[in-house]
Amino acid sequence: MNKMISYGHQYIDRDDIDAVIKVLKSDYLTQGPSIPEFEDMLCRYTGARYAVAVSSGTAALHISCLAAGLRSGDEAITSPVTFTASANCVLYCGAIPIFADIQSDTVNIDPEEIEKKISRSTKVLIPVHFAGHPCDMKEINKIARKKKLLVIEDAAHAIGSVYRGSRIGSCKYSDMTIFSFHPVKTITTGEGGAVLTNRRDLYEKLLMLRNHGITKDKSHFLSRGFHSAGSWYYEMQCLGFNYRITDIQCALGISQLKKLDKFLKRRREVASLYTKKLSTIDEIILPAKRDYAASAWHIYCITVKKASERKRIFEELQISGIGVQVHYIPVYLHPYYRGKFKYDPGLCPMAEDYYSKAITLPLYPSMTRKQVNKVINVVKSVFRKTR
Ligand SMILES: *Cc1c(COP(=O)(O)O)cnc(C)c1O
Repeated sequence: MNKMISYGHQYIDRDDIDAVIKVLKSDYLTQGPSIPEFEDMLCRYTGARYAVAVSSGTAALHISCLAAGLRSGDEAITSPVTFTASANCVLYCGAIPIFADIQSDTVNIDPEEIEKKISRSTKVLIPVHFAGHPCDMKEINKIARKKKLLVIEDAAHAIGSVYRGSRIGSCKYSDMTIFSFHPVKTITTGEGGAVLTNRRDLYEKLLMLRNHGITKDKSHFLSRGFHSAGSWYYEMQCLGFNYRITDIQCALGISQLKKLDKFLKRRREVASLYTKKLSTIDEIILPAKRDYAASAWHIYCITVKKASERKRIFEELQISGIGVQVHYIPVYLHPYYRGKFKYDPGLCPMAEDYYSKAITLPLYPSMTRKQVNKVINVVKSVFRKTR
């Protein structure tokens, strides 16, 4: 019996293992030199001025929303076709997640739908670069400036993606961008994430929020009386968290980031093989690409034309050893959201239509040509049977 080809898998080599061992033998397991080194590399790679590495992509989203000033009663608009974290971070701030429908081709949030959902309470937009294909950030940024909203890019899928010549993470069209380094994502630190920004004020807030709301920077002390206190002195100025990442994880991150371009090259190769070989199947639609976008190909999602066929196709692929997935159940259809906000089916028809037809095929850098061919052949044979 052949092993299941999983939908995603990390790539760890000898260099990664050695980098981690080196930190384990050093003086600092956390709060040491690997963290700023990893952050500097993220800045250099993306072109952003500042990076704050944290314990997960979800933590990155949470402190981004807090730094944006999102509070009880505010609204934040995000995509329904995403992992629940993109909306949960809004709830953590006591604010209300509002869902704007997607573009049927890119599966990304539709700028026109964002405009329809803006109210007097809207404060933040959280576009998600689905599967790695960048959202139309120029349009989204235009809306945000007109309505005085902040933009947080959820780029958990999109490290290495390019939008109109700029790497995602440059924050050219946003206030902050978050990455996730969970093992299914393009590079990994085990668990981990980061926030990128070009704004000094947000950067300083993010640093405090990562570490209990504490600052050790004299120039920022609020209690004037303590300004002349000894070198032990620090202040807690807001309620932050322990969202710190460890040096062990950042050493892995540094080592992985060095391989990112290699990972991207292989992801693009596999994606173009799928696109070439599966384009002959009439019953499916392959992922779209807009001219302003170069995707990092976090996932490869096909849609079946007939929703009634999806379940059977999905199960046949699974039985044949293809680790398929569905990305994603529209967030507002989860019982928690339906119960809390009275969201009902029909809220975002495009998202629901997409969800009813979507299947994600395996895609990761260490996939062998043999595995790629197996996926292609099994998908072809499953559809041949439907005729
Ligand atoms: C993975 C993911 C997250 C959360 O990242 P974690 O590191 O798992 O907390 C957020 N948004 C999207 C779109 C994701 O895919």
